Amino acid sequence: MAKVLVFIDNPGLALKKASLELLTIARSLGEPVVAFNGELHDGVAAALAAYGAQTLYVPSATDLDNYLVGPKASYLAAAVQTSGATVVLTENSAEAREIAARLGIKLGAGVITDVVAVDPDGTAHKSVLAGSYTTTARATTPAAVLTVKSNSITPEPAATGTAPATVTVVVPDPAAAASARITARSEKAASGRPDLTDARIVVAGGRGVDGNFGPVEELADALGAAIGATRAATDAGWIGHDAQVGQTGKTVSPQLYISAGISGAVQQKAGMQTAGLIVAVNKDAESPIFEIADFGIVGDLFKVLPQATEEIKKRRG
Ligand code: FAD
Repeated sequence: MAKVLVFIDNPGLALKKASLELLTIARSLGEPVVAFNGELHDGVAAALAAYGAQTLYVPSATDLDNYLVGPKASYLAAAVQTSGATVVLTENSAEAREIAARLGIKLGAGVITDVVAVDPDGTAHKSVLAGSYTTTARATTPAAVLTVKSNSITPEPAATGTAPATVTVVVPDPAAAASARITARSEKAASGRPDLTDARIVVAGGRGVDGNFGPVEELADALGAAIGATRAATDAGWIGHDAQVGQTGKTVSPQLYISAGISGAVQQKAGMQTAGLIVAVNKDAESPIFEIADFGIVGDLFKVLPQATEEIKKRRG
């Protein structure tokens, strides 16, 4: 059976939903094996076994994280050679896509990014033009590298768990390679809110918040939601770029997406139109956001959001 190599990079204490999705897709394509980087905690090992990982490859070098993408691509290339995998699956983050590109060159493999589904024969469905179209593509090379958008499928554990054997992959010494080394790191302050890409509820603000994300934050906290934003808001410096949802930001697929002061440009919709329920608050009744909203409130977000927050807090006691 064809081996499918899933790259899991520094998951911490628990596997992310995105990794569980990759393992689920891997099982539909062949025998899932994992190229792991980082510290393997018990919860992660248990999830890998539950999701059917057959083999766990780990790098001989433990300092890959001290470098930018180059050494990780070399590690994956070595893991493909050791395992004989014909498909590599990674996340679709900016870093993972860069690793995928370098890996593609090293292996002479076709690389398909922005994948939203994969057929059992390896045909990838890829979202293009700000999510307006889905195209199909299939690599004709002996190996293929696919970067898969999160929230593409519902992750499902394997029918029978596994006890994956660990195999060490010899990787070139990163210090000897011409790789950019990370010289300093600063810890990002924890918000205490859920991760944007995994959140069940997202409250997002746009240019309409006019520099004040306070009402968006208060509603998000009342709902236990993550905060999203448009590029107009992140470019203005009102909130960090990691909150950007859309074509050049994150793709989210929450059960509930509350959009406040957002016009609904195609590039914003590309990142959120698969949300289960979309609620839009905009003072302009003609705003295009209302075309995709399940519930629309024509009004000033500075009046609507605090009222909603108050009511939710009251009901939650
Ligand atoms: P606007 O379009 O200015 O809309 C603001 C809205 O707020 C208006 O509808 C207004 O009626 C409403 N409003 C104002 N005041 C209030 C109030 N008090 N109460 C209620 N409503 C109010 N954008 C993204 O979001 N994500 C992306 O990833 C992205 N990628 C892009 C990539 C490219 C290549 C390009 C060209 C553009 C990209 N954009 C992206 C930008 C996108 O085209 C839009 O410019 C942007 O989404 C607009 O953001 P906005 O809705 O916040 O602002």
